[in-house]
Amino acid sequence: MGEEKTFECARCGRCCNQRLILLNTEDVFRMAEHLKTSVPYFMEKYGVVFAKVGENKTPRLYLQVRGEKCPFFSGEGCSIHAVKPLMCRMFPVLKPGQTAGEIKRFIDEHAASEGVKSCRVFRLPDATPLAVDREAMITSVIYDSAETIYYANLQRTDMKFIYGLLRSVNRPQLRTIVADYLFNGSRESGLIFEQAMFEIQALCQVMDWKKAPYMVVNDGANFEPGRVLVYVSPQDARDIYEASTGGQIEAVFSQANPSVADPSFAFVSVAMRTDGARGMMLAFMGKKDDLRGVSASGEAVIGFCPSDGSMDRIAALNVFIDPEATRS
Ligand code: SF4
Ligand code: SF4
Repeated sequence: MGEEKTFECARCGRCCNQRLILLNTEDVFRMAEHLKTSVPYFMEKYGVVFAKVGENKTPRLYLQVRGEKCPFFSGEGCSIHAVKPLMCRMFPVLKPGQTAGEIKRFIDEHAASEGVKSCRVFRLPDATPLAVDREAMITSVIYDSAETIYYANLQRTDMKFIYGLLRSVNRPQLRTIVADYLFNGSRESGLIFEQAMFEIQALCQVMDWKKAPYMVVNDGANFEPGRVLVYVSPQDARDIYEASTGGQIEAVFSQANPSVADPSFAFVSVAMRTDGARGMMLAFMGKKDDLRGVSASGEAVIGFCPSDGSMDRIAALNVFIDPEATRS
């Protein structure tokens, strides 16, 4: 592929008449702040809805365009250019490595209005490779992944919580990992990113139990067959160990999701009861073959032991998944 060209937007506004414009929560807070309104007022005034659209199984936020054009379109272009939604900032190059021809086909298939078919991209030869806005793309992948997980798990909208969640995960370290995955095709970075998102999923599930949320941290350490190292807080490690009988604890495997970055890996979340009232959720990743005893709905027995024998100092547990002990 030749050198990527930067798409030069004519700011003609022909793409500003789509029926629905995908927003993320950070877009909503940023635009509301810019317009000096509250978030609820902004959502009501501009018709921001929380809806399932098309084939998407998970509801997301959309700006409904009720007139002929987006309410933010003025004769001179976007009136909120500096704070416009991430989707608008990226359009029409929505993936790394896209050519003008691929973008034209996408617009032909998905555009909700004819106007956008005269976007400047249609004047470019099909083979022209176009550069994606990398920073916007990274932000979009992090925000979209986290929001989709949140909405899929909780089906409710605590906007302030989601806003805080997005800001807390959008850290330079994770951005570097996502960039390595997206632009260098790094399998390791893909796995680490998926693990981070899976831990958010476990966090959401814990929240749904109305338990004190806590984050399981896993550094993607080396995995031996049947053994996964899971990092938890020292207090959680102590709780888990003390609640277990002889290092064994009954657990319900709530989910086992295959990895997209490397299908030979799977992410597993485990729900446990450490006493009658308190539940816990662990999320970890392992080689699929090593996790063969895990069933998505069945119960299993897993063993825990402190990583160094000292309950005061440890912040990690070895988790032994014993396929023989798995009950079908
Ligand atoms: S926010 Fe701006 S760029 Fe996006 S659709 Fe509206 S007018 Fe167009
Ligand atoms: S239709 Fe194309 S050229 Fe016109 S504003 Fe949208 S992206 Fe820019």
